[in-house]
This record gives sequence, structure tokens and C-alpha cells, in this order.
Amino acid sequence: MLPRVIIIGRPNVGKSTLFNRLVGKKLALVDDQPGVTRDRRFGDVTLAGMRFTIVDTAGWEDEDPSTLPGRMRMQTEVSIADADAVLFVVDARAGLTPLDNEIGNWLRTADVPVIVVANKAEGRSGDAGIFEAYSLGLGEPIGISAEHGEGTADLFEALWPII
Ligand code: GDP
Ligand code: MG
Repeated sequence: MLPRVIIIGRPNVGKSTLFNRLVGKKLALVDDQPGVTRDRRFGDVTLAGMRFTIVDTAGWEDEDPSTLPGRMRMQTEVSIADADAVLFVVDARAGLTPLDNEIGNWLRTADVPVIVVANKAEGRSGDAGIFEAYSLGLGEPIGISAEHGEGTADLFEALWPII
């Protein structure tokens, strides 16, 4: 079985776009409306000799906010239970939200390596957001643009020692 890397993060940060970028196919649905990805999706990635299975999740995309904290934790537990690494995606343009911080707090207690990925950072547009993402306390954020294919090499460099 290949190492398993799980993409998690709040809705609309670009998780499915990153999944598609890594897999190189349109296996995950990308949409402007949050909550489009309903199930976990799996794809195999091969790059520079490194092979792993990538998982796109939508566990944080609950329509009923009153049930969010419970579902968040439940879904995350399911997702990271068999993960070798987590890519925690945030939106470098929008900056951190309370939900990002909540997910970050939870991940700091989880027993799995986490890489913070600050997406939508094409050009220099995400510089402030990348810097802000340090405050999650989960190490050095990797600035990427899943849509434009920037930062993928840095991401693989961060994953290489882990998986
Ligand atoms: P998910 O809900 O986290 O899976 O997010 P999606 O992958 O569905 O993307 C949500 C929105 O963000 C879509 O409109 C994407 O086109 C957009 N998006 C994704 N990646 C990038 C990026 O690198 N830069 C910019 N500017 N937009 C992006
Ligand atoms: Mg999605």
C-alpha cells in the first residue's frame, strides 16, 4: 500500500484543485460553491520518484453550522486515522478564519505530521497570508497556487522526508 496523504481544510480553500493538480486529472469536482465535494476521493500521485495516494476530503463542509464542531472532529478523525501525512490547506488571500484556527488547534493535538499549505498564493498575492499561516503553530507554511501550478516543488520537498 502506498503512503497516504490527506488534504483537509475548510470549504473553498482549493483542496480539490490541489488534488487535481497532484493527480493530474480532473477526478475531484471543483466549484465556486463551497461544499461541492461530497465524498472522499482517492488518487495516486507519482512525482520525482515519490509515490503516494492523495485523498481529497470534504468533512468540514457541513450545511448545518450547529453541528459543525462535532462533525468536524468526527470526519477529521476518520480521515487522518490512516494518514501518513496531512496537507492542511488555508487560503493565503482570504487569511485565517476562526474555522482555520479551530482545525489548526485540533491538528496540533493529532498524532500525524502536518504540512500547512497556503494556497491561492500566485505571484506575490499570498505573501501576507503565507506569513500569517505561521501563527497556526504547525511549522513553516508552503505557499502554492494549485490553480496555476506554483509551489508544487516546495510541497514535494516538504513531503519527501515524511513519507
Ligand atoms: P475546496 O472546497 O477546498 O475543495 O476548493 P475548490 O478546489 O473547489 O476551489 C474553490 C475555489 O477556489 C474555486 O473557485 C477555485 O477555482 C479557486 N482556487 C483554487 N485554487 C486556487 C489558486 O491557486 N488560486 C486562486 N486564485 N484560486 C484558486
Ligand atoms: Mg472540494
